Amino acid sequence: MATKSVVSGGAGFLGSHLCEALLARGDDVICLDNLETGSLDNISHLEGERFEFRNLDITGHVEIEQEIDFVFHLASPASPIDYLRLPLQTLKVGAEGTRNMLGLAKHKRARFLLASTSEVYGDPEIHPQNEEYWGHVNPIGPRGVYDEAKRYAEALTMAYHRQQGVDTCIVRIFNTYGPRMRPHDGRAIPTFLRQALQDKPITVFGEGEQTRSFCFVDDLIRGLILLADSEFHMPVNIGNPDEKTILELAEAVIAATESRSEIIHEALPVDDPQTRQPDTTRAREILGWEPTVSLAEGLRRTIELAGAEGLIGSTPG
Ligand code: UDP
Repeated sequence: MATKSVVSGGAGFLGSHLCEALLARGDDVICLDNLETGSLDNISHLEGERFEFRNLDITGHVEIEQEIDFVFHLASPASPIDYLRLPLQTLKVGAEGTRNMLGLAKHKRARFLLASTSEVYGDPEIHPQNEEYWGHVNPIGPRGVYDEAKRYAEALTMAYHRQQGVDTCIVRIFNTYGPRMRPHDGRAIPTFLRQALQDKPITVFGEGEQTRSFCFVDDLIRGLILLADSEFHMPVNIGNPDEKTILELAEAVIAATESRSEIIHEALPVDDPQTRQPDTTRAREILGWEPTVSLAEGLRRTIELAGAEGLIGSTPG
């Protein structure tokens, strides 16, 4: 019998790429999504006998009849403008949604993967960030709803593992990009690509000296599947350690699109982390995982695969 995987948030950016990769390796896939930030457009090409989509909110009871081997729990607003717009939903899906997905994994004796985030490190005081670092998060700041929801989700996952023997793993995902990001999701790469392709000003927040490390989606998904297939239970960073300032990112996007855009500066959002770079020693040692796609190559592939129309989009939202 084929391996059966459940993917919560499967119609989102990362979720849809994960569903695609699982189908490609021969799994049957059940995709759960309430389409709050996900979209049917992301999964319409996956329709077929081995793929099932269920439009449901995982903060309510989830009933799945079939046997399941893996539960990949990715459902959550993940872009700052989304979790600022949906603060209570973000907390609820991190808490109730995670509990329901852990309960499902326990009931089905499936391996559970929590999609956590580099945001658990907050505005980090150590550099690069390894998995031993406890983080520096402002619980009552605007970003706190996402950071604390994911921190709680990690605590819940470890409690189910330690107290009830659920087979769990936790991936801390660093900034990831690629086709199917929404042009208006507010994050740096889709925003800059959209602006550059229209020769509009590129909006760098603050001086642009803050850093991020950007991972191409294919590398990230390969890491997720390797972790799910391992027997490891502690958190693992997956991200590309090639760190760039946001100004360097804007310049890389201008080069990749051969744009005539100028760079302008806007106010830095509250609690915007100053630096972020994964220490990927653990991923390398435990999973043999390393990113292979450079920023220039990843931007090229994103532009080619999404096309100008996909990157510009029609309406904000
Ligand atoms: N950023 C920016 N201009 C934009 C969008 C984002 O300068 O139009 C900056 C943002 O302030 C942050 C970085 O780019 O320092 C990455 O932001 P993103 O929302 O992509 O991810 P996150 O802050 O969650 O890492």
